[in-house]
Amino acid sequence: MTLTRTTCPYCGVGCGVLADADGTIKGDPDHPANFGRLCSKGAALGETIDLEGRLLHPQINGKQADWDTALDLVAAKFKAAIAEHGPDSVAFYASGQLLTEDYYVANKLMKGFIGTANIDTNSRLCMASSVAGHKRAFGTDTVPGTYEDLELADLIVLVGSNLAWCHPVLYQRIAAAKETRPNMRVVNIDPRRTATTDLADLHLQVTPDGDVALFNGLLAHLADAQKFDEEFTQCHVNGLGEAVEAARASDPADTGLSGQDLTAFFTLWASTKKVVTVYSQGVNQSACGTDKVNAILNCHLATGRIGKPGMGPFSVTGQPNAMGGREVGGLANMLANHLELDNADHRQAVQTFWDSPAICTRPGLKAVDLFQACADGKIKALWVMSTNPAVSLPDADGVAAAIAKVPFVVTSDIMEKTDTNDLAHVLLPATGWGEKDGTVTNSERRMSRQRAFLPAPGVAKPDWQIISDVATRMGFGAAFAYQNPADVFAEYIALDAAVAHFPRDLDLSIFADADYAKLIPTQWPRNDKRFFADGKFYHPDGKARMIAVQTHALSHPRFTLNTGRNRDQWHTMTRTGKSARLGPHLAEPYVEMHPEDAAYLGASPGALIHVESIYGRATLRTLITPRVAKGQLFAPMHWTRQRSSHGTINSITAPVTDPFSGQPALKFGAVTAEVYKPKWYGFLASNTELTPQTPYAAIARTQTGWQAELASGRIPADWETEARTLSGQGEGDVSMQSDPTTGTVRMAIVENGLITALFFGSSNPVIVSRTAINDLIGSATAPLTALAGRSASDQPDAGATVCACFHVGRNTLLAAAANGARTVTALGEATCAGTNCGSCKPELTALLAEASLPMAAE
Ligand code: SF4
Repeated sequence: MTLTRTTCPYCGVGCGVLADADGTIKGDPDHPANFGRLCSKGAALGETIDLEGRLLHPQINGKQADWDTALDLVAAKFKAAIAEHGPDSVAFYASGQLLTEDYYVANKLMKGFIGTANIDTNSRLCMASSVAGHKRAFGTDTVPGTYEDLELADLIVLVGSNLAWCHPVLYQRIAAAKETRPNMRVVNIDPRRTATTDLADLHLQVTPDGDVALFNGLLAHLADAQKFDEEFTQCHVNGLGEAVEAARASDPADTGLSGQDLTAFFTLWASTKKVVTVYSQGVNQSACGTDKVNAILNCHLATGRIGKPGMGPFSVTGQPNAMGGREVGGLANMLANHLELDNADHRQAVQTFWDSPAICTRPGLKAVDLFQACADGKIKALWVMSTNPAVSLPDADGVAAAIAKVPFVVTSDIMEKTDTNDLAHVLLPATGWGEKDGTVTNSERRMSRQRAFLPAPGVAKPDWQIISDVATRMGFGAAFAYQNPADVFAEYIALDAAVAHFPRDLDLSIFADADYAKLIPTQWPRNDKRFFADGKFYHPDGKARMIAVQTHALSHPRFTLNTGRNRDQWHTMTRTGKSARLGPHLAEPYVEMHPEDAAYLGASPGALIHVESIYGRATLRTLITPRVAKGQLFAPMHWTRQRSSHGTINSITAPVTDPFSGQPALKFGAVTAEVYKPKWYGFLASNTELTPQTPYAAIARTQTGWQAELASGRIPADWETEARTLSGQGEGDVSMQSDPTTGTVRMAIVENGLITALFFGSSNPVIVSRTAINDLIGSATAPLTALAGRSASDQPDAGATVCACFHVGRNTLLAAAANGARTVTALGEATCAGTNCGSCKPELTALLAEASLPMAAE
């Protein structure tokens, strides 16, 4: 079988994938990012390429249309808005899911032909603070690190980065390196204990946003311990004195850490030459995210620990092509090819190259401001590309209302039903992963090809082509006459050559003669060049700048909310939500809460909690765990209004942003919490898709169909009618058990001898094994046996899914551990868990520890 060599569409690790139209997915052993590894999300890609739910034809106001009509309308509406209200009255909101070619064309149309910089992207939510911090320190947005540095380091400091779940293959590379070199040390700085913490020698449970105080404390310690690299700082760094002075003014108490922990960390950092500091959303998504980045960079610059193997700061991006978007200028405050919007020479050079009628002269609206402008009536035409801002932006309900106010909204997407598409006047079907061709750049500046191995479904087109078609209809056809993505790529590389005389870090000359079809994963500027090895930076004087960063006054409300990702889901689940394999791992929107907070609220395990801010309310299942600190709540970002009634966590996050980067502070917000006491709770499993209308509902895909968690404040008059309505199963025989004294009701619907739905209702949170109940759907199990909640064929209940690849449940693993499998390897041998993608290995470690079993040495 000939497999197509392509790249995973999820996180910024950028793993190479070998894929085929029959659903075969393998890690590419030759790709330098992953060397054949894939995480659970990547390994399940084959389950996400069906056409269920796809947008296959253009739609205008909900009705199918042909391409010409839809494109004519989009072009006419944008032209009319620009003619009447000026170029700043229109906006694009793009995505790190776009390929570099798509991004390049969108940026060119907006900045060079429409003449406004109102193009921003969901990458603003991901790493804008790193961009701003890099530019302040280096003069350019340069990520100097490589993945190999992680394996060469003697100390890896992970700051605000749950690598085990969010960049699993990088985590696996570090874990493997640590196994090979046991003296390697890992420090995890995170307000929460996460799956990543299990790899760490030291966990610093820093107070939220205490990172500036922590790294300022480190800088002051390095100064006191005379650990600065005098030669490096004198020749290559400005601002050291001011930065140290500001650092000394920081109060270590703002970290929330003990003196013992601080000393341990400072001493380890100071005494280890090869240090890599990895940071991601926990640093970036903050009201002081840029200062956090610079506090980290200060320590590396002061000690000269940058630009050398095994040392340096390393921002890892959340999205597959956040880096590619940065390269082509796909943010509202960038130009193109790492050129500056506020530099007239740069603008002139780009305009000349594009031969464009205009060039934007000032930064456009950053994401949060862009949607505020929609709310204020300033945006008359909006194009949302490959993203779902009505769910993913802070104050998501306010953003949805803002989009609804825009007179003309167009989306280009692969899916038909999303919370944002519901608000659009025109939907344009885009090709998705596996159907389109282009390039992406991963976190280590490595550009790889995404290649098509599937036909375009319906009449879907690649984004670069849709944008070019609109540009042509707006009168710019000559500049957008691309025949294929290779044409776009060639122009992008040619622009880089045309502006090579400007001092920049971006140097794409290695791609000048590249054969696009055969392009192999390649780092810019050259595979062997290390940024800053020569001490040369990109400020006009060639030096780096240390920035004097001050700690910020921290408020301490009774509850703060932190948000993030789950292991097996990606963003708003439009793709991963299709996978039955990925669905069962954390299948319902939840909130992690410390046991003492649960006791304070009177929340028992499984209780539903209203978490509320001035922006809205979410209702979430309580997960009581000491992994979060007292007063801190954590909730995942994935649930949409299509998958849950009240699980969209960004309905309650605040549109507070970092003043330099404009990145929203999604990790730290003030909320209140109280127990929600419905009249009944329910669990429903069915062989058909569920769309329950109960006041609380959350649905998920299962191996046998769908499941729904339910709750309501109204007792139904007739439980059978209720269960049939909720499950959509009007046919079939019903077997029911009920106990009015305990308020429980159990019901099985059977058709042609097979169970089609099972319903469990109770006045308390329903305690049945979800795995066992889901496994009964489609079986010929006797209804009474099924209503007892027992597994089909009397198989032992596997318990909640831990290993998604082999569908291994918690109970199975505990049983194996009790039978002597006392290591992760032994658990793998006994159950297969963790032996494919390895993403569940941290949970296997935690499970062994939790079971209080003595851990044998691996
Ligand atoms: Fe994809 Fe997982 Fe690799 Fe990220 S780590 S690129 S999600 S396979």
